[in-house]
Amino acid sequence: MKLDQHFVTNRKVLLRIVELAKIKKNEVVLEIGAGKGNLTKLLLNKAKVVYAIEKDEKLFSELKKINNKKLKPIFGNALKINFPNFDKIVSNMPYSISEPLIQRLIYEDFKLAVLLLPKNFVKIIIGEKTTKLSLISNLFFEIKVCDDISPVCFYPKPRVWSNIVLLKLKKCKNFKNAIFQEFIKQKDKKTKNALREAIIKAGKKFSRNITKREARGFFENFEINKKVASLNLKELKEIKNFVNNLF
Ligand code: SAH
Repeated sequence: MKLDQHFVTNRKVLLRIVELAKIKKNEVVLEIGAGKGNLTKLLLNKAKVVYAIEKDEKLFSELKKINNKKLKPIFGNALKINFPNFDKIVSNMPYSISEPLIQRLIYEDFKLAVLLLPKNFVKIIIGEKTTKLSLISNLFFEIKVCDDISPVCFYPKPRVWSNIVLLKLKKCKNFKNAIFQEFIKQKDKKTKNALREAIIKAGKKFSRNITKREARGFFENFEINKKVASLNLKELKEIKNFVNNLF
């Protein structure tokens, strides 16, 4: 089992992450892959509560030794367990779960994510070249790329440089974008069902009452009907265009 353990040992980097998170006294913070608690301890100075998820038993027992009532250590795999409610997510998390974690964050409601991510992955999400992941990331998040972080700030050193990245959920001001967002979230449904659900859900948000029958009507002759999660970039773009031309 790959645990991807690279601890941030450079204190300036840890302080910078905390600074960028602008944590208020009443805020609840979620940390993923807390390790021995290098970052956790600094987060505890700022937040009301810190939920710290860790999957490695040994590290988890270290983490539990931190004597602070504000700390709520959670043992488990961050991709599988339910998240508690939180305001901000602040993490130097395992790079191997960057993509599934970003995919998971589209379902959460939070004010800000401050994440340390590998630079090559950051390039993908900001969409230097459009990919399925960049399309989804930019549909849901405002992404701000901050400091470059050298491998020497970690122990053991990772092979690649990293960035501190800020993610904020985009508030959907536009009905058509809201439909596409809701559509992407129904990842286990077939395309037509997902579109139908999405249009009804987005309709509710924008006070447009669309009945099931109406919703079905829009997509009757739609040809693509794979599971949403298995759609490729071309198909997603086609669906986006289709939604944009609906009304
Ligand atoms: N945040 C710490 C540790 C970073 S290393 C620091 O900066 O020092 C990444 C950590 O994530 C490791 O402690 C590893 O055991 C843990 N981890 C790996 N996969 C995980 C998963 N799926 N869920 C939760 N924690 C995980």
